[in-house]
Amino acid sequence: MNEPQTKTCSTCRESKPVESFYLRRNRQGGRARQGNCKACSKAKHKRWRDENKKHLSNYSSQWYKDNQDARLVRGSRRRGMVSRAKGKFTKQQWQARLEYHGHQCRYCRRTGPMQIEHMIPLSRGGANFPSNLVPACKGCNTKKGTRTYFEFMELINES
Ligand SMILES: [Zn+2]
Ligand SMILES: [Zn+2]
Repeated sequence: MNEPQTKTCSTCRESKPVESFYLRRNRQGGRARQGNCKACSKAKHKRWRDENKKHLSNYSSQWYKDNQDARLVRGSRRRGMVSRAKGKFTKQQWQARLEYHGHQCRYCRRTGPMQIEHMIPLSRGGANFPSNLVPACKGCNTKKGTRTYFEFMELINES
């Protein structure tokens, strides 16, 4: 039995030579032409790939954005739990504190990446309430250590 010379694509509805259709093994062990022409198969596959790529990259960049802030907040909450500190704060509240201080370090007024600083350290009985939080640069945060806000201000004023 001879294969017909042309076939109508089920997607673009064009009548094309059979060579324009991929041969696929069918269940009976024979070979049959696909319903879509090669061009339509490729286009369909490409569309599928593009959609997936878009979806994947959207997903991962959004995940990264969400988790950058969430990680910061979660990390402090965890530290707070260790010393059984009272209070808690949300990402939004921390954001408000940052804005209040103009995204500057509370101690040296430098700008840049800010850390969550507890004016009264958790280890000294401070709480995780937003009012106890100020932004601090890494340098000041490290220097301050377990000093309270007032102790540290004295130290800064002396030097
Ligand atoms: Zn087609
Ligand atoms: Zn600083």
